[in-house]
Amino acid sequence: MKKDFTPTILELGSLQVILARHFGFCYGVENAIEIAFRAVEENPGKRIYLLGEMIHNPGVNADLINMGVKFMMDTKGNMLMDWDDLKSDDVVIIPAFGTTLELEERLRDKGIDPTHYETTCPFVVKVWNRAEKIGDDGYTIVVHGKPGHEETRATFSHSVAHTPTVVVKDMEQAELLGRYIVHSIPDDGFYTDFKGQYSHGFDVAKDLERIGVVNQTTMLASETQAIADYLKQVIIGHFQTPADKTTDRFAETRDTLCYATNDNQSAVHGMLQHSADLAIVIGGYNSSNTSHLVELCELKLPAYFIKDEHCLISADDIRHFDLHAHTERTTTGYLPVKQSLRIMVTSGASCPDALVERVIERLSSITGNENAVVHIKEQWQVAL
Ligand code: SF4
Repeated sequence: MKKDFTPTILELGSLQVILARHFGFCYGVENAIEIAFRAVEENPGKRIYLLGEMIHNPGVNADLINMGVKFMMDTKGNMLMDWDDLKSDDVVIIPAFGTTLELEERLRDKGIDPTHYETTCPFVVKVWNRAEKIGDDGYTIVVHGKPGHEETRATFSHSVAHTPTVVVKDMEQAELLGRYIVHSIPDDGFYTDFKGQYSHGFDVAKDLERIGVVNQTTMLASETQAIADYLKQVIIGHFQTPADKTTDRFAETRDTLCYATNDNQSAVHGMLQHSADLAIVIGGYNSSNTSHLVELCELKLPAYFIKDEHCLISADDIRHFDLHAHTERTTTGYLPVKQSLRIMVTSGASCPDALVERVIERLSSITGNENAVVHIKEQWQVAL
């Protein structure tokens, strides 16, 4: 069935909110939160650890900390506690991004079953399975992902167990890899250019003759497709592979983005068919899928990446994350001074819907339209 990506229009007095058709929480995140809460409920008195951030949402992570859950590592994989302090009767929850085979093994060595409270999203596992299958068929895996991201580190680990693997973070790196595939630059440079992104023993001379591309589930769909298309053309061109034999050199993988990433990005494309004064994108600042929604919006209009309603300081000032400078900053004069405003709103896969509601309420309030929200809520209550 063809999905509808037309946005919902909320008329709130002089404010029109153009709300993306699909936004916010995905199956994987809901599932992870449910399992984590169950782990707390089922283990009173025990120490409960999360291997890393559950999901990239500060509110959800704060809730878990308040329930007594502790984090073992930061988002870069640095330990926040001494590994030796871990005891066999401790409970360890694997986050939605999954983890590496090496860390699973270390937990087993401690007598802790890493699968007992594992919240790894099935869509991430699907990527691992795809990488393993292609690897077993004799292809080198190219992972399109952010090299330091927990999910990409986990996918890399699973892929490496089967085949040589290299991570490319963007089109620029894919083009660089293309030059090593055709050997237009000396092989030696690969080990510097892709430092920390290739598997042990990677041999540029022979490991770039047959490849397949998988990706971190939350990358920008259009970029993943462009990278796969580009690398396919490079490799079949270099080896002069006949059109009916391309799979000899390039494994046909349909992209491995998850449904939520696809739907949220398609809904932003649908929203951008309309015109508006600005866009507000809500999510954790280290959330990969949210940052891609911001990038899409930025192509068309001013876009502000905020973590919650408190970022809407007033009708003059907004606190937001600058993706390009990697820092939070405050912008003055973000709301145009005019009779009526049109604002697009969407959120990433790790953002609770209640947060979106609070942001819309805050927008209504700072634009003097709080009564319109109250009126709509009353209407909905009557309808229910
Ligand atoms: S964004 Fe996709 S892959 Fe990630 S947790 Fe959600 S459903 Fe799973």
